[in-house]
Amino acid sequence: MALTIGVPKQDAGGETRVALTPDGVKRLTARGIRVVVEPGAGVRAFHADEAYASAGAKVERDAATVWGADVVCVVAPVEEGAAAGLKSGGARNGMLRPVERAGVMRSLAERGVTAIAFEAVARITRAQRMDALSAMSTVAGYRAAILAAQRCPKFFPMMMTAAGTITPARVLVVGAGVAGLTAISTARRLGAVVEGYDIRPAAKQEVLSLGARLVELPVAPAQAETAGGYAREQSAEQQRAQAALLADHVAQADVVITTALVPGRRAPRLIDRGTLERMRQGSVVIDLAAEAGGNCEATRADEEVRVGGVLVLGPTNLPAQAPVHASQMYSKVVEAMLEEVAPKGELSLDMGNDVVGPSAVTHAGEVRHAGVRAALGLGEPVGSAVQGEEMGA
Ligand code: NAD
Repeated sequence: MALTIGVPKQDAGGETRVALTPDGVKRLTARGIRVVVEPGAGVRAFHADEAYASAGAKVERDAATVWGADVVCVVAPVEEGAAAGLKSGGARNGMLRPVERAGVMRSLAERGVTAIAFEAVARITRAQRMDALSAMSTVAGYRAAILAAQRCPKFFPMMMTAAGTITPARVLVVGAGVAGLTAISTARRLGAVVEGYDIRPAAKQEVLSLGARLVELPVAPAQAETAGGYAREQSAEQQRAQAALLADHVAQADVVITTALVPGRRAPRLIDRGTLERMRQGSVVIDLAAEAGGNCEATRADEEVRVGGVLVLGPTNLPAQAPVHASQMYSKVVEAMLEEVAPKGELSLDMGNDVVGPSAVTHAGEVRHAGVRAALGLGEPVGSAVQGEEMGA
């Protein structure tokens, strides 16, 4: 019996993306894999049911059949109710936010479902094709710069017009990882004068190579990076020192885009209310770390906050604002992961596989992920390795 992949409709909370596009379906069905898609699953990413049907998928009205497939591919975490339909021995593939949804993870383990969280994919070269976080951060960084340009009451580029010369907007990007660097390059293309800052010394060259100015602060750069290339979490005192040094740059910016995060930790607090009050009226802060508590003191997830004349936005799902390309990129990640979990077209969940093993939060009745185990108050696992020490999403 051919492997069946389920693609549910996930439009709760304004989600617009879909886990598998019709092009992805075409490639899978060419490998003899069956795909069942819930009606309307791709419609908000502009993929009609007919496009899925012509790509070889079955558009299945019965949602339980879709959720009961051997592998269910999701683009957003699901609630307990939907998870209950998953097949024992089957797998669930996607962004699961396992630590936040530890209770759902426990019930998946109890039901014998293997939950593969893209958030837990190891950052190794071989797994780059399966790095959904980076793919979605690329979209988020781009959309953050566009959103900032839209909400900023000034032009981004310099303009020399008969009505006078307009000076370019000043954009500060804090955190120069995947999202930050994309925000820098997008804001540069829009003509703003851009400054970039990151705690990791390795990020300096990347900021400069995009034509942005580098903000350098004398804050413990020698200890700022782990052996794995991630930023080291700064102590509360270091964060306060950083915030104080960054304040002058924030106060001079028309737009601040913040993306600073250490995986699995609360976002560092780098902009306080006092600094916001020093910003010019009409300035805009876009805080991409809103879900992890925010880099800015005033940020509220998915809300618009005004501090004096400054607008602070904390959008948590910017990839949903570019559903066509976000879904295209996500679908490629899903397909790459399916090659790992079903290399010969049949489900083969090998915990020794260096991509599958670390990302399997649950398997064979057990919760394997260290962060989820801690959230559930479970001790060391019996038998299998503890996964996901650094991952917290
Ligand atoms: P990343 O790990 O590539 O980049 C984070 C950067 O922050 C790193 O370069 C790190 O060195 C830097 N950093 C950490 N602590 C710092 C500090 N104290 N000061 C300065 N820099 C510091 O992560 P990413 O993929 O670019 O994601 C960035 C953020 O955007 C994360 O919070 C992620 O969850 C979020 N995100 C948001 C959305 C959205 O729609 N809001 C979508 C995708 C990602």
